[in-house]
Amino acid sequence: MGKKALQIKAKLENVGEIKPSGPDFRWYLKFVCGNCGEVSDKWNYVSLSEAFPGERGNTVNHIVMKCKLCSRVNSMSILKDSIKPYIAVNDEDEEFQTIVIFDCRGMEPTDFSAREGWTVKAVNDGKEFTDVDLSEGEWVDYCDKINEPVGIYEIEYRFVHVK
Ligand SMILES: [Zn+2]
Repeated sequence: MGKKALQIKAKLENVGEIKPSGPDFRWYLKFVCGNCGEVSDKWNYVSLSEAFPGERGNTVNHIVMKCKLCSRVNSMSILKDSIKPYIAVNDEDEEFQTIVIFDCRGMEPTDFSAREGWTVKAVNDGKEFTDVDLSEGEWVDYCDKINEPVGIYEIEYRFVHVK
């Protein structure tokens, strides 16, 4: 099935960068089975800190799931080097940016839920906020280093195929 990139887009107020906090970060996803088309109804997470040996050579899986409908065993891994921060471009014209790529074997992510564990850096060498919760789809705080409010609004995401 190849690789799927998760791209996000958001309106930022005095925020320079958003990124997952580290290897313990949990990407909450829903999946579709490539064999029968069954879409999982509950959220599952994948995390770099939870890896399982793959069937072949030096591959690793970050999730292995048996499809409820067709019983096929599917798997997926996070491409560690693909994880990138979402960077503020300019105030008016936000564009989708890839923040992680998943290597999919038999299943693909269809839905993403941004939750906890984000690190947010304010502009102009402002504060770094850790364990930011984006589950409400937005976040506001105040940076006392730059004496400005900081915020993330209107978070959107999509999955795209990549080579
Ligand atoms: Zn299936």
